[in-house]
Amino acid sequence: MTARIVRFSRGSQTIYGFLKGDSVFELIGDVHGEFEQGSYIARLNELRLLAPCEPTKIVGVGWNYRYHIEEVAADIPDVPILFLKPPSSVVGPADSIVLPTMSNEVVSEAELAVVVKRRAKHIPPSEVQAHVLGYTCGNDVSARDLPRQDARTKSFDTFCPLGPCIATGLDPSNRTIRSRINGQVRQEASTREMVFSVPHLVSFISQVMTLEPGDVILTGTPPGASTLNIGDVIEVEIEGIGTLVNGVVADT
Ligand code: MG
Repeated sequence: MTARIVRFSRGSQTIYGFLKGDSVFELIGDVHGEFEQGSYIARLNELRLLAPCEPTKIVGVGWNYRYHIEEVAADIPDVPILFLKPPSSVVGPADSIVLPTMSNEVVSEAELAVVVKRRAKHIPPSEVQAHVLGYTCGNDVSARDLPRQDARTKSFDTFCPLGPCIATGLDPSNRTIRSRINGQVRQEASTREMVFSVPHLVSFISQVMTLEPGDVILTGTPPGASTLNIGDVIEVEIEGIGTLVNGVVADT
C-alpha cells in the first residue's frame, strides 16, 4: 500500500495520521502492524509535525555513494561502514538544528532514511521489504572538525532531523535526493548511486543488532554536503517522500 504517514501531537496525545494532499486523516490501528484510514483531522499547516517515528537507535552508514567517496578520495568499502546516532539527536520538521559551541564545522548530509516496521534479526536481503515500514528524509548532521572516532561528531542534540512523513510502498532503488541551503541546490543524486543497496544494508545491519519498530537506518549521503551557518534554512527533498525543512540556530 502506498501511503504517507505523519506523526503529531494533539492535546496531550501523540498520534499518527495519513497525509493526503494537504489534509491529514486519523490512522486507526498500529502503525507497525495493521492500520487503516480514519476520519479527517485537520489541514497539514494546522498541525505541528513531529519526527515521523520514535527510533530506539539510528544506524548510520558512511561512504555509501560512489561520487562522495571520490570527492573525499577514499576507497570503496568492502562492507558497509556503520555508526550510531542516539535517539536524543532526533528532531522533527518543525524544529531547528542547534549548532554546538564545541564545533566550528557542522555539515548537513541529505540521506534516505529507512524506517523499520517490526522487530527483526538476521533478515535475508530477499525478505527486507516486509520488515520496512517505509522511507523518510533524513539529515545526518555531523561535526566534521571533531575527531572521526569521537562519538560527538554524530551525536549532538538536533543532529538527526527526520520527516516530514514516512512514505510506504516506495521503491527506494532509484529516487532523486536533493539538498538546498537557503534555496540553493547543494546535493543532487540518485539513490541508484549507492554502493550498498537498501536490502543489502538492512540485511547486513540485522546480522549485527536486533532492529526494533521505528528504528532508522541512514543510508549515506551523496557529494556536496555543506557547512551550516546560523540563520540557514536547509531542505532535504526525496522524490516520492517530500521535503524536510529545518532552520539553523545558535546554541544559547
Ligand atoms: Mg552521513
